[in-house]
Amino acid sequence: MIDQHGRQLNYLRLSVTDRCNFRCYYCMPEEGIDFASRKDLMTFDEMFMLSAIFCNLGISKIRITGGEPFVRNGIIPFLEKLSQTEGLNEITVTSNGTLSAQYQRALLGMGIRKINISLDSLDKHRFHHITRRDSFDTVYAGIFKLLDAGFDIKLNCVVADNKNIQDIVPFIELTKNYPLSVRFLEEMPFNGVDGSPIHSDWNYKRIYSHISQHYPEIHRLISDANSTSVNYKIAGYRGSFGIIPSFSRTFCGTCNRVRLSATGELRTCLYGPPVANLRDLLRRGALVNDVEQAILVAVGRREKDGYAAELASHGAIHTSMSSLGG
Ligand code: SAM
Repeated sequence: MIDQHGRQLNYLRLSVTDRCNFRCYYCMPEEGIDFASRKDLMTFDEMFMLSAIFCNLGISKIRITGGEPFVRNGIIPFLEKLSQTEGLNEITVTSNGTLSAQYQRALLGMGIRKINISLDSLDKHRFHHITRRDSFDTVYAGIFKLLDAGFDIKLNCVVADNKNIQDIVPFIELTKNYPLSVRFLEEMPFNGVDGSPIHSDWNYKRIYSHISQHYPEIHRLISDANSTSVNYKIAGYRGSFGIIPSFSRTFCGTCNRVRLSATGELRTCLYGPPVANLRDLLRRGALVNDVEQAILVAVGRREKDGYAAELASHGAIHTSMSSLGG
């Protein structure tokens, strides 16, 4: 799959549910969002069928996301089956870390060893304020269980004023003794509230500048060609840190991702509108060829970057990240 701007797409982010056991302020309001009904969610068979079609078209890596993937019943047998898909080299998972540690054996058994865990604060009270859930101890202990078990762990931290600026340096200090990567993200406008602006004006430059005031010697690392993060290391520290310009969108030129929401919406850019509904195609009895064609047409029309995609959304970009598939 190559888009009209010459970018090869080989990475699918597959959302298995729009439900989450957290209510992070940047993702959805406290009362939640209008979650999809059970019948609107793709079944595991539909997800499996579509994943196989994507892999046949050239997808070699699938990230399982949501919502919170581990709140969906039956996720482990699904992952087990998915891991046998022809052409699929790697499955990774993004989780809030409340439930992932309990599945570590099963995950390792099927070859999944990279997990991104969202953690926005190292302080129990700030964590509660941000996620609206009192689960810091579970998540924090779970991270070290996963590390001990041999998982490659990245922590995702959305940076915002009045929320967690005081956590930035402690997060980097965590990389001193642990082989973790902490990634600081700019807040994006996907908070599930129409017309609600983002809370933060901490862009990637400001985050870097803040860090450089505390660490005079920061080494830039060589990153993968398609990496969304610019990665760094403090000399002598076991882990590393990265900054993801998720709102500044400086990485679109090398973006290799497509997204499939839990209700089958295909997006070729997070900031753009859904460009097809693949669940609907399957339910209307489409053949593999028809689905492949729909995907290729959508990929062919892919916007140049997140700004062009946002324009194509006509301002309707406040959908919760939990529905989009983060
Ligand atoms: N529940 C899982 C988790 O917590 O990681 C997976 C889904 S979550 C939507 C995926 C990622 O999106 C998380 O790292 C979260 O912090 C990030 N995210 C959600 N809304 C965001 C926003 N408005 N701006 C920046 N990142 C956001």
